[in-house]
Amino acid sequence: MTTRQTKFDKLRANPKVSILVIGGGINGIGTFRDLALQGVDVLLIEKGDYCSGSSAASTRQAHGGLRYLEHGEFRLVRESLLERNRLLTNAPHAVELLKTTIPIYKRFSGILNAPLKFIGLLQKPSERGYLVVKLGMMMYDWFTRNNRVTPTHKMLGREQALAEHAQLNPDIIGAATYYDCLMPQAERIAVELVLDAEAAFDEARALNYCSVISATGDSVQIKDELSGEVFSVQPKLVINAGGAWIDFVNRSMQHPTRFIGGTKGSHIVVDNPELLKTLNGSALYFENKDGRLGIIEPFRDKVIIGATDIRADDPDSVVCTDEEIDYFMQFWAQVLPGITVERSQIVFTFCGVRPLPASDVEFVGLVSRDHSLRVVEPDANVRFPIYSLIGGKWTTFRAFAEQVTDKALAFLGKSRRTATEDIAIGGGKDYPRTDSARDLWLKQVQSSNGITAERLQTLFERYGTRAQAIAQFIMAEPDVPLRHQPTYSQREIIFLTANESVIHLDDLILRRSLIGMLGLIDGDVLQQLAKIVGGVLGWSAAQTQAEIDRTTDILQTKHGVPAARLKVTT
Ligand SMILES: Cc1cc2nc3c(=O)[nH]c(=O)nc-3n(C[C@H](O)[C@H](O)[C@H](O)COP(=O)(O)OP(=O)(O)OC[C@H]3O[C@@H](n4cnc5c(N)ncnc54)[C@H](O)[C@@H]3O)c2cc1C
Repeated sequence: MTTRQTKFDKLRANPKVSILVIGGGINGIGTFRDLALQGVDVLLIEKGDYCSGSSAASTRQAHGGLRYLEHGEFRLVRESLLERNRLLTNAPHAVELLKTTIPIYKRFSGILNAPLKFIGLLQKPSERGYLVVKLGMMMYDWFTRNNRVTPTHKMLGREQALAEHAQLNPDIIGAATYYDCLMPQAERIAVELVLDAEAAFDEARALNYCSVISATGDSVQIKDELSGEVFSVQPKLVINAGGAWIDFVNRSMQHPTRFIGGTKGSHIVVDNPELLKTLNGSALYFENKDGRLGIIEPFRDKVIIGATDIRADDPDSVVCTDEEIDYFMQFWAQVLPGITVERSQIVFTFCGVRPLPASDVEFVGLVSRDHSLRVVEPDANVRFPIYSLIGGKWTTFRAFAEQVTDKALAFLGKSRRTATEDIAIGGGKDYPRTDSARDLWLKQVQSSNGITAERLQTLFERYGTRAQAIAQFIMAEPDVPLRHQPTYSQREIIFLTANESVIHLDDLILRRSLIGMLGLIDGDVLQQLAKIVGGVLGWSAAQTQAEIDRTTDILQTKHGVPAARLKVTT
C-alpha cells in the first residue's frame, strides 16, 4: 500500500492529474474506482474520513425505493433495483437480504397520489391503502423479472400479519411483505472500494483528511488537514462529488452555484430485545400520522429507527435533535402500540443531509431522489470544467459512477476498458456462495494458519474473503481479545489501522468497525483501542489522549452517547 507521505511526495513532484474527484462519499468513491479501472490517473480528496458525510447517515438499505413509484420515477426505481441486485451479488459479505413488512390500514386510499403528482397538484400524499401497495409491489417485482435475486412480494391478511408480528397495531386490515437489502457495514464497502481502486491502478490515489480550499487558473489548492500544509494540483477536469457540500465547494472554486437543496435525516439505534423480537427478522416500513414514512429495521442485536426529512442548509452542523427523538418515540402508538421504548435504550444516533436537487416543493418527501450531473464550463478564472454530482443514492452509486466516468472518458478522449457491473468488491472477491463452498473455504483457511473455527467464522462474517489475509496476519504473532469487547482482537485492530487508511481513532470506531454504531463503546474500550491504534500510528501519550478526547467529543455531540458511558472504570 502506498503511504500517505509517498502520495504527497508524488503530487509535489508532479501536480498534474487528469481528474480530481472532490468528496470521498460513496458517489466520489464509486467514480474514483471506475476511473481507476479505466487506467485514468485520478486523485480523490476527502476533507474528513471516507464515507463520513451523508454516506454514513443512510438507513443502510440497498433498495429500489418503493415510494418513488408513486412519484413516477420509474427509471430510478428500475435502476435502483438492478443496482441493489448487483450489490448483493458483488458484495455478498456486506449486503444481506432484508425482509420488509408494510402494515396496511385502508383499502382504496392513496390511489390519487400518483395522478395528482403527475399533474403537479399533489401537496402531500394521502395514506397508501391495500390497492396502491399491491400495485407498487407488482411493479417492484416486474422490474426485476429477468434478474431475480430476492423473493417476490406477498400480501398478508390481517390474521396472518398479526401472527407474524404479534405486536402490530390491531387496526390493520392486512400487510404486504417484500425484500430489499441491508448494508450493515456500508462504510466498510466504501473503504474497500478505495482499496480496490488503488490496487487496480498505480496512478489512482486517494487522500482522506485533505480539503479543497480554492481554485485559480488551472490549479486547485488543497489543504492537508493533518499538517496544515497547502499544495496545488493541476487537473484537466474536476468532479465535484461533495454531496450536500457541492455548492460550498463550487463557491470555493469561484463558481457560485445553487444546485443542492438538502434535507436532513436522523436515525436512532436502540437496544430493546422485545422490539427486536417482534420484528421477527423483518423491517417495518410504515406511514406515520403526518404522512411521513418511517422505518424500523433489525440491525444485528439492535434496532435502527428512522428517518426524518427536514430542510437543512449546513451539512457540517446537523445532529439528531431531542425533537427528532420525540418524533420517533411517538411511532409506537401508530405501528406497535404494545411496545415501549425508553430513551435510555438509545445507544447511538446518526444524522446527515441528503444531497437533493434544489427545489421549492413544500413537502420535502416529494423532491426527486434521482441523480443528475451538472457541468460548469471553464472560464477566465478557472480553466477546467467542473462536473457536479447531484443526488445519487447509496444504492445507485455504481450506475451513477459509470455515467459520470463515461462522460469524463469522452472528455479525455479515452474509451472504457472495463465494465463494473460484475466486479466484486473487497471481501466479496472469490466469495464462496453455497454452504458447502463456504465450509470448504473456512476449512482450507483454518488449516493454512491454525486459527480457531469460531474466530475465523467471525472474521468471515465481518470481512468476507479478506478474512484470509486478516487471519494470517493475526496468527503471525501472539494475539489477545479486547478486554471488554472480546469478539474483536488486538491484532485485528492493528490490521485495520495499518491497512485501511485509519488516521483518527474515530475512523476505526465509527467507520472500519461497528463498535460505535452497535453501542459497544465505553470508556475502557476507548482507552484500549486508542493504545492499539496509537501504537500503529506512532502517537505520543499526548496525541493518544487528544485522540481519546476528540472521539469522546464526537460520540457525545454527534452520536448522542452519554458522557457517563464514556467514563473509564478500570
Ligand atoms: C437519512 C438518510 C437516509 C438515507 N437512506 C438511504 C438508503 O437507505 N439507501 C440509499 O441508497 N440511500 C440512502 N440515502 C441517500 C444516500 O446516503 C446519499 O444520497 C449518498 O450517500 C450521497 O453520497 P455522496 O457521495 O454524494 O455524498 P456524501 O457522502 O455526503 O459525500 C460528500 C463528501 O464530500 C466531502 N467534502 C465536502 N467538502 C469538501 C471539500 N472542500 N474538500 C474535500 N471533500 C469535501 C464531505 O466530507 C463528504 O464526505 C440516505 C440519506 C440520508 C441522509
